[in-house]
Amino acid sequence: MTPCNCCNQSFRWVQVLATNLFFSKASCENCGCRHKVYFIDRFLFSLITVVPLVVFSSLIYPFENHSLNILGGLGLFIIGLMGAPFVSRYKYIPGKGEGNAAFHRSDTT
Ligand SMILES: [Zn+2]
Repeated sequence: MTPCNCCNQSFRWVQVLATNLFFSKASCENCGCRHKVYFIDRFLFSLITVVPLVVFSSLIYPFENHSLNILGGLGLFIIGLMGAPFVSRYKYIPGKGEGNAAFHRSDTT
């Protein structure tokens, strides 16, 4: 999973998935540094989720039964959704919302 550019702690799978789905920014749970997903990785995210769904259920159309084609496409969509956080990388957003890692570390010990 993609690590934080400030403290190198990995982001959680569900956090990366939510960031991709809702086009939001992610804050590191350890130090509070804000990150956003690279544009090319957003493109890759849709490439491995939506494109297989559309291609399988509309273009390839392997089954006679229309429901089976849609279910197969949805299956591919869900598999892509599960794997997408593993290929997403975060870019650090300097300035606004920047955390103070040293403060948090001394606070917890
Ligand atoms: Zn961090």
